[in-house]
This record gives sequence, C-alpha cells and structure tokens, in this order.
Amino acid sequence: MALAEGAGRMRADPEGRLAMTTAGPLGGGFAICLDCGRAHPMEASPPDLPAALPNAMSKHHALLLRRGLSRTRDGYCPASDNLARIQRNLHLAQVMRTDVWEWQLPAACGEIAVTEPAARALAAALREALAERLGVEADEIVPSATPSVGPSGEARLSAFLHDRAAGGAGLVARMAEPEMLAAAVARATELLGCPEDCVRGCPACILRPDLNRREMVLDRRGGLALAQALSDRLALPESLRLFGPATRLAGRPAPALIADRLRQGRLTGLDLWLHGDPSGWDLSGWPLRRLLPRLEEAGIRPRVGILASVLTSAGMNLPVKLALHALARTADLHRAEALPQAGGAMVLCHLRGPADEQALAVTIPAEAVPGPDWGQGAAAPALIGPATAPAMGNRLSADRLIELGTGNARLLWPGAALDGPVQGFGRRFWDWLAREAPLEVGAMRAAGVTRLQYADRYLLQAHLLRLLAEVMRTAPGARAAALAVDLVGDDRPPPDARLLHHNFPDDALRREVLRHLLPGASIELRAKADMPHFRRLSVWLKDGRRLDILLDQGLGAWSVAGSQRHDFSAPAAAQARALSSADFVLRAGRTTPPHRPADDRSPTMTDAPTDADFLPLSPEFLRQHFPVARSLRRGNADLFAPSLRSTG
Ligand SMILES: [Zn+2]
Ligand SMILES: [Zn+2]
Repeated sequence: MALAEGAGRMRADPEGRLAMTTAGPLGGGFAICLDCGRAHPMEASPPDLPAALPNAMSKHHALLLRRGLSRTRDGYCPASDNLARIQRNLHLAQVMRTDVWEWQLPAACGEIAVTEPAARALAAALREALAERLGVEADEIVPSATPSVGPSGEARLSAFLHDRAAGGAGLVARMAEPEMLAAAVARATELLGCPEDCVRGCPACILRPDLNRREMVLDRRGGLALAQALSDRLALPESLRLFGPATRLAGRPAPALIADRLRQGRLTGLDLWLHGDPSGWDLSGWPLRRLLPRLEEAGIRPRVGILASVLTSAGMNLPVKLALHALARTADLHRAEALPQAGGAMVLCHLRGPADEQALAVTIPAEAVPGPDWGQGAAAPALIGPATAPAMGNRLSADRLIELGTGNARLLWPGAALDGPVQGFGRRFWDWLAREAPLEVGAMRAAGVTRLQYADRYLLQAHLLRLLAEVMRTAPGARAAALAVDLVGDDRPPPDARLLHHNFPDDALRREVLRHLLPGASIELRAKADMPHFRRLSVWLKDGRRLDILLDQGLGAWSVAGSQRHDFSAPAAAQARALSSADFVLRAGRTTPPHRPADDRSPTMTDAPTDADFLPLSPEFLRQHFPVARSLRRGNADLFAPSLRSTG
C-alpha cells in the first residue's frame, strides 16, 4: 500500500510470520546431546576456532536416554564417551504467526537520514501512541526495525509493530487505517520530544524494559526528526485532495475496503465503473468478484457502469461478454455515457452508506482496470472522499449482450451437474457436454482430435492439475491427440502450502508435477501478457475444424469439499502419483481464492507455540532461509522480516 509521495509504504498482515531466534544466554547458542536431549548454553567462540564444549556437557547424566542406548559403566550418558554425539552452537528458532504491521520507510527523508536506530525509536514511539489510542498495555505490542527490500529490490529500512500474543490480537492491524496512522505519527512526534532530552530513549519517553538491551540501539533524536519529516509527508498534497479537504488515503486495497464497510454495516449500495479497454479486462481475476456472494447475502446488488463506446469495440469479444454475463447474476449492468473522474484521477466506485456517499479513485490507469491490480493502491495512493455518483444509463441485458455477434457459440451452465467424486470427473465433464452440445462432441468422436490445448492463468492449486488430467485424458476421440497446457507464474506463491486446494509453492514444481500427470504434453509457463484473460480448452479436429470451450472460472469453478493434505515437498513424480490416486469430492460454487490459499487454521489467542514449533537450527540454515538473518550473530529474539510485497 503506497502512502503519499515520499512517505514509503505500509502493510498489515494478520497472518504475519515471525521467526524468533535465540543465541542463548551466553551468545553461542546451545550444545545439545543427540543421545539424551540434554542442552546447555555455549559461549560465542572466536571465528575459525572450534567451539569449546561446556564442562557440564562433556560428562553428563542422561536426561532422557534414546531407546536402545544404555549408560556408561560409571552411569553417564553414552555420549560422554563419544563427544561427536553432541551438537554445538545450535541456535533455537521459533516461527510464530501474529498480526504484523510494517512501514517501509523512504530511502531518505530530505536531509534526514533514515537509520536503523532512528527507525527503532520511531517504532517504539508508535507503539506508545497506538497503545494509548486503543487503551491497551504498551507491552502487548512489540516494536522493531530491520532492513527490508524496496519496490525495485533496493535496500530499505522498515519499522515494524507486531502483536505479542501468538495468533495476533488485532491491535497492530489498526495501524493500516490512515486516520490511525496519521494520529499515531502525530502523537509519536510529541513523545519523541523527550522532557529529559535523552539520547538513546529513556523511561520518560519511549523506553520499555523489552527495548533496554545492549544490541537494540535507539536514536531518540533521529527518531524525532524522522517522525516530523514523515508527518509532513503523510499530509496529502493539494494535488491528491481529489474530493476536497475531506479526501483520505484509502489505506488498503479497494476490495478490502469494500469488505470492511460491508462488515461494519456501512454499505447500502455500490456503483462500479469499468475503466479501460475490454481487451485489458481480467474479469475472472478481479478480486471484487469474490465479494459478490457476500454482497448478495447482504442484499446489495451492485450496479456496473460500462462506457457506451466500448460496448461495440473490438475488445468486447465473446470471453468478455461471457464474463459480464456471469457478473450479471449478482450485479446489474448499465450503459454509461462517461466514466466519473475526480481531479484527473479515475473513480473506481461509489460507496453508499446509511449516512453518506463516497467515491474511491486511483491515479494510475493500470489500477483502474478490472483485474488483479484493481484499486490495489500499490504503485500510487488510492484515495477516498465524499462524492455523489452520476446517474447510471439504461440497464443492459446480459443475454442480449451475448446474443449479439456470438456466431455459433452457445452458453452452457453446468451448475452442480459435475459435482461428485474426482474419480470420473473427466467422464462426467464430456458426458454433460455431449448432452448439451451433441453435434460438437459427436464431431470429436467422428472426426478424431489431433490436438487439445488448455490455457488458464489461474491453474495454481494442486487439485486443479488432477481435474485437468481427468478432462484431457478422457476427451472423446482424443486418444492420440497432442496435449498442450499454457500456464502463467504465480504472483504470490504461498509460503506454507500443505493442503490439496493450496497453490503450489513454486512454478517449476507445478509444471513438473503436471508433466508427470500428462506424459508427453507440452507444458509452457508463459508471460502474463502473452496469455488471454479467459480460460479456454481448444480442440482441433482432424478435419481442420476447431472447437473452443471457454470456461468462465476455469477448472477452478470446482473446489474440494473439506480439507485434504498434500505433500508439496515430495518429488514431482510422487506428487503426481498422490494427486492421481487422491480421493476427494468436488463441488461447484464458491471457489477458493486463487491467490492466497484459505487457511484451515484460524489464528486465535490460544494458538500459542508448542514445543513442536521449536527447531534447533544452525546459523547457516537460518541465513539460507531467512534472507535478512544477519542479526543472528547478535543473537537474541530478533525479528526477521520477509521482504515486503507491493500487493498488500
Ligand atoms: Zn546425553
Ligand atoms: Zn527520553
């Protein structure tokens, strides 16, 4: 989420993952006996010197002896005679999920240097300010500052706050609200003006016992200068006050903002405006579509304004019409003579509430077009303010839209016809299609199929590979057909995929698994720009004819009932075998969002870390897996930040 020019960017993540490591009380990690589990802290050893084993470990009594081992004759743990069984300098790490708020600071603030000690002082002051506003104890929130990676891969610094409670308590998430951020920065500026005029922070201003550690250097004066500079930059410049003085930063992506309003009972109506040329619309990847069922439940039927001139443009092709037709089940399509603008920015939507009406606008065209980037506010701020929606034009009939210029195409609704066990899904698919389109499927059988090609930007989840294999392997007349699949890389591969309906953690792996499922098929990972916005199964007949089957939601229209595990760490061939033999039930309907797998475990206060979450890890392992683990050498419960992505 971009903030105003020069103020950096921020994000809040309710599923933030913190890796805490500890180097132990002596700084050198722990010695751990592999035979009995006894552990003892070690001192940090000078580089290139072998670590000296603590005396307490060289001859020790067994803590809990492994099965099959017996004590030495004098009653000690057998490892006492074989010191290679004692691991040295192990650092303990723990991964915890909680609410995390990150403010990636600008590289520089005019004359003001953005340093880690200043950023840490700022984070500490923001913690005090937020705790005051929320009326909670300050030590329920943990401040920190670490290096992070900027939008173009450059080195930056981030100030972090996270909830101390494992699972998160929803405290720091409030910082993502623009009003809260502005108020907290203003209050932090006051707090940083210490009455004692201290240098490194003191109990009179921002210091708390958890920050009073040698390796956590604070620069109170630097933090004050930074807070003042950022405070000025957070104020919206005149050019961004699109809706007058009451203009605010949206503070979160447009779909999240709309969902929040809905939850808070502050939404009674919604007008959406489709900007750009239809050839650039990605209506099935438009996150707003996933909100439509919830809007429908709340009795809100959005109105969608489509510019009259694009209705007849070349980009308004069959797949776009198909997607609009699907949209029209839960929204009304309207003709619009012009799309609303505000101060040169594009208005995405008007939100009506019980008391007011507001408009949300973005300043760059790429974020105005319906698709994954719609209203993200990632590259430039998204703004909201009071505005009245212009009148909508005549209502458009979705059926009429489809009838016009679709040639010999026809529209089919499978509904629940294909639901059931995954075994036989392909057969059910073709049988159903043969009933609905007997001539076309008959031609496949009679003429024979030379080539089958499936293109889908969102074939990301593990179970979808199985569905595709089922459909391709059972296509009538296609026993000898060449198979081809076109995929696109996943923008946000999940860090912890483990269920059948989760996205693959890695594109190369996904492709490899699909290769094993469809031996001999040509499977290409293409650039997004080279792929259509719609999902299409193309069938080439031996007599030269071609049949295109456009699937509005693709195979992703069918989701897995319940949760089933899938081991994404197994070799590709083993994963393909597991997918082929997996037994699960498919249901049409609300699909799992393709971008972020739904978590089957909701974070709660009781979700405290267990012993099983603790892993003894070597510094090398940590450096490999946590790119900014450089503070490991300093030891002691530091925060490791995953690099900031611009999507949040
Ligand atoms: Zn032992
Ligand atoms: Zn002070």
